[in-house]
Amino acid sequence: MRKIFSLFIVLNLILVSVGVQASAQDAVSVPILLYHNIADYTPDAPYDRSLNIPAKTFEQHMRMLKNEGYTPITYEMYYAYETQGTPLPEKPIMITFDDGYLSNYLYAYPVLKSLGMKATIFVITDRRGKALSINPHFSWNQAREMVDSGIIDIQSHTHSHQVSTTLSDDALAYELAISKRLVELHTGKKCNVLAFPNGIAEARELAAAKKAGYKIINLVGEVGSNRKGDDLATMKRITVFADWTSYNLKQVIEKNLVL
Ligand SMILES: [Zn+2]
Repeated sequence: MRKIFSLFIVLNLILVSVGVQASAQDAVSVPILLYHNIADYTPDAPYDRSLNIPAKTFEQHMRMLKNEGYTPITYEMYYAYETQGTPLPEKPIMITFDDGYLSNYLYAYPVLKSLGMKATIFVITDRRGKALSINPHFSWNQAREMVDSGIIDIQSHTHSHQVSTTLSDDALAYELAISKRLVELHTGKKCNVLAFPNGIAEARELAAAKKAGYKIINLVGEVGSNRKGDDLATMKRITVFADWTSYNLKQVIEKNLVL
């Protein structure tokens, strides 16, 4: 009888601890950071502090995340957590870049690689290897090299970065389909995640993206973090500014974790 009673207690303890773990996972809040170009400030060139970040500042941000115990995860991990309940690591966070600048390959990738931190780059597929402005874009070969390292995930930021709400139905469908195809062709990996140019999308654009096969859609500039049960078609991302110290970034993340 005594044995059965102790077994009962042990079983209860196991059930309670499983329950605590499950509810802790349900309360997980995942912030997504959004970077663009890595570039130092120069007085003679235009410097948009929401689009550029000095290389040194980026490295300090990443070191802070590492020291604070954050674990960068992929969208695939987030999707598995959302749809199958696959647990996420401690203090999950996502690091993302929009557009696909060569500076990501030259300055961000080596830092991420040396720290073993995963990140996602949303690329404008028509600009691979091109230098249309002062900020050139990395090539498909460089994309492949980053993907093969296991550190970088490449996903779609559409084909030509036109504001999606201005496109005809056909042009929108083309932008979504061709960019997905090109990413998959050149990286050898599935392209299931989309970030709309300038984060602009209404109901028609979201429906078209889902129809094209995207499972997760990101916007820009929303405050807050992402939690289980939130809409996968409107993932919130936090734009990181050039003049944020790593302490500023830490504070912003902590504030957004509870929003
Ligand atoms: Zn963009």
